[in-house]
Amino acid sequence: MKQILVISGKGGTGKTVVTASLAALVNKKVMVDCDVDAADLHLLLHPIIKERHEFKSGKRAVINKNACQGCGRCLAVCRYDAITSNYRIEEFSCEGCALCSRVCPCNAIRMEENTSGEWFLSDTQYGPFIHAKLGIAEENSGKLVAKIRQVAKELAEQQQLDYVIIDGPPGIGCPVIASLSGVDCAVVVTEPTLSGLHDAERVMDVAQHFKTPVKLIVNKYDLNLSMTDQIESMCQKRTVPLIGKLGFDKKVVEAMVEGKSIVEYANGTLSQELRNIWKKVQD
Ligand code: SF4
Ligand code: SF4
Repeated sequence: MKQILVISGKGGTGKTVVTASLAALVNKKVMVDCDVDAADLHLLLHPIIKERHEFKSGKRAVINKNACQGCGRCLAVCRYDAITSNYRIEEFSCEGCALCSRVCPCNAIRMEENTSGEWFLSDTQYGPFIHAKLGIAEENSGKLVAKIRQVAKELAEQQQLDYVIIDGPPGIGCPVIASLSGVDCAVVVTEPTLSGLHDAERVMDVAQHFKTPVKLIVNKYDLNLSMTDQIESMCQKRTVPLIGKLGFDKKVVEAMVEGKSIVEYANGTLSQELRNIWKKVQD
């Protein structure tokens, strides 16, 4: 079983367009959406949720109003201004450090486990799909990514699937690092802009730091040919294979509006290029 991660370094490069096409092209796989802060692959895969699980991480302070005597010690020690003047916890500000519960002379503050999101096991017409939703202003996205990747790996092993195809988060932060660990290949999707080049290089640095093999795709390459040349040169310098150049095509937007991947929507040049890309990923 091989794990393939699609990442971009920045949002809006067309990463999910590529991943959704792989969902349609690859047999015997489980799909995973690791962009837990702003998941969107479900819009194209149309999952039917079979299992729903709470994701618990960190702790939050809770004040028992009946036991509180209003001494103000908790308010004085909280460095995150998470306690209001009438001794109420602001749940989005509390960092769960537990200092307030330690200084309270009345044992009026308890630390409760925090439910910071949910993860789902779903059925789709393309096979099983693991996805998640982190709550608003919640942290620990890296832990949630690690959780759903573990679930996907176990499912692939149980069902003897050949691939885990992962839609990665944008950027280079904690959830990207959690997405990268242990994958067999990272496919970077970029666009021919200066920020596309810069952010692709940053995420390639991270992947290469973890000794993950990297391949690169330029999306909408024909919108800026000189920048595409610069990206190609960068790939040559790094000995990173450039495995595909996808041209700009309005049909991609039409396919999105229809809720389909481009390879299912239109059988044109772009779909053929995506099929070639999958062959090169397998190589
Ligand atoms: S747990 Fe820490 S951050 Fe939360 S209210 Fe108490 S002192 Fe403030
Ligand atoms: S430290 Fe305890 S008793 Fe004092 S104000 Fe805070 S919750 Fe109330």
